Amino acid sequence: MANYSSHKRAQIIQNLQQELDLLVIGGGITGAGISLDATKRGMNTGLIEMQDFAAGTSSRSTKLVHGGLRYLKQFEIGLVAEVGKERAIVYENGPHVTTPEWMMLPFYKGGTFGPLSTNLGLRVYDFLAGVKKQERREMFQPKKALQKEPLLQSEALKGAGYYVEYKTDDARLTIEVLKKSVELGTDALNYVKATEFLYDEHGRICGVVAEDQVSKQSFEIRAKKVINATGPWVDEMREQDGSKQGKTLQLTKGVHLVFSQDVFPLHQAIYFDTPDKRMIFAIPRGDKTYVGTTDTTYESDISHPTVTREDRDYLLHAINDMFPSLSLTIHHIDSSWAGVRPLISEEGKDPSEISRKDEIFVSNSGLISMAGGKLTGYRKMAEEAVDKVVAILQDEAGILFEKSSTMHLPISGGNVGGSKGFMTYQEEQIAVGEGLGMARQDAEQLVQQYGSNVEVIFDLYSKHKQEAEKENIEPIVLATLIYAIEYEFAYTPLDYFVRRTGEMFFDIGKVETQKDDVIAYMAKAFEWTSEEKAHYENELMEAYKEAKLMNI
Ligand code: FAD
Repeated sequence: MANYSSHKRAQIIQNLQQELDLLVIGGGITGAGISLDATKRGMNTGLIEMQDFAAGTSSRSTKLVHGGLRYLKQFEIGLVAEVGKERAIVYENGPHVTTPEWMMLPFYKGGTFGPLSTNLGLRVYDFLAGVKKQERREMFQPKKALQKEPLLQSEALKGAGYYVEYKTDDARLTIEVLKKSVELGTDALNYVKATEFLYDEHGRICGVVAEDQVSKQSFEIRAKKVINATGPWVDEMREQDGSKQGKTLQLTKGVHLVFSQDVFPLHQAIYFDTPDKRMIFAIPRGDKTYVGTTDTTYESDISHPTVTREDRDYLLHAINDMFPSLSLTIHHIDSSWAGVRPLISEEGKDPSEISRKDEIFVSNSGLISMAGGKLTGYRKMAEEAVDKVVAILQDEAGILFEKSSTMHLPISGGNVGGSKGFMTYQEEQIAVGEGLGMARQDAEQLVQQYGSNVEVIFDLYSKHKQEAEKENIEPIVLATLIYAIEYEFAYTPLDYFVRRTGEMFFDIGKVETQKDDVIAYMAKAFEWTSEEKAHYENELMEAYKEAKLMNI
């Protein structure tokens, strides 16, 4: 029986102490993808994450599974082709966490893209990325562009390109990949930090000392190979290993702002020029619109990037420039987040110009580090990383493993009959939810959020409905909270509100109304002391204030 439950921490820690073939450090999308690929090939794999899964960059992106049209400008043809093709695979294997979204790219006199370059660029993009016929680009005259999005700046508008991207929930994508990996046999645990490397008598890495961040107890994990998939922390780990040489990371920060549709009623996703000639996205999502991102050099605390006044004002200025009828101010901001990109340094280049390509470094001690890359390309990156491990293990120890086989492997929640079957599955499950007494909209949201795992949610909903009434907690909140704890490793209220439901960003009102119930339930479930309860409550409220930009 796979262990996804936060009540099984002790058991998972015990399992991690049996010698592994591969230990993955880092539970972002890179580490989750690697562990899935490795376990699927038959490797005895463990994964540790020092915070919550996806709490690093993998919950702080623009939340697009995209082909990287922007990189065409930098002539990164290979990258565009690969990422574009991967996009289709990610969609097929998890249609519940990836939704097609038509994007409009307006062009103006003097802008980054003109009608000719846009037309050509999108045509090349369709070709390179192998875009499906029904999703190929269109070109609009100004009138049609304004029909699609009346909020758009009309002055000097010369037309628009129209093409498909995919929206995702980055944290949920990471967790679904990880859950699949655990289902197949990976031992994974959050709130466990690699504090030290262990070396054998030849100076080769053979494991780590790990510290459970909950109990503060340390233990050793032994593994034939160790992968450093720590995103922005990759260089810190390389430094600990004494192998931070050659190429290093350059961290840049990106910020997003969220608005209610009441004040920013955007109908159509737009990819547009900022006054300083960068490009950013404005994307409708439910009853919100979010905008980002900035791209600035970052040298502060990696675990805790925050939005500054300059970031906030920069985005507000860009929004009001492109959507002049809005006149948005700081008072209209509903929520926000900031993330750090782990890019591979390139001398003399501006942050926006640095390649997003991934790379693998192998140190003399045998530490394998994977850096750079994108959410979108996670599966291919994982394949490359595990290919490397397989080659080394074969070379060093004559051990053989299979080829990667994740291309047609649905992630957790993805058993919905592929992208084609998802609509039918959705309708069937909405009917089940309605049959249980849920509003159609709630049932629909649950199917979209949990895919085929919604069946477990519905089951929990039925079983705990009476308890919810007795405890005066909303039954859907209780079902999703129990699911988060028992099936998705959630351990703190922040895990639930940020990375299991995304409500901190896209439904922040719910954090206000549900927080007491959620904290009380978790305190009981995990038998927190009053100090522990106060600590987690405080952590949640600090994050809430930060998202609301109350601290700047
Ligand atoms: P992370 O998600 O940061 O994971 C690394 C993990 O390692 C962290 O969770 C950390 O806690 C853990 N860790 C560190 N040290 C230790 C230790 N000692 N022990 C245990 N664990 C440790 N990509 C896209 O495809 N589409 C987009 O729209 C997009 N937009 C972006 C927008 C922004 C603003 C940013 C910043 C990035 C964006 N990206 C996008 C890129 C994408 O988000 C990242 O490439 C990806 O999330 C990196 O994942 P990762 O797993 O390598 O790093």
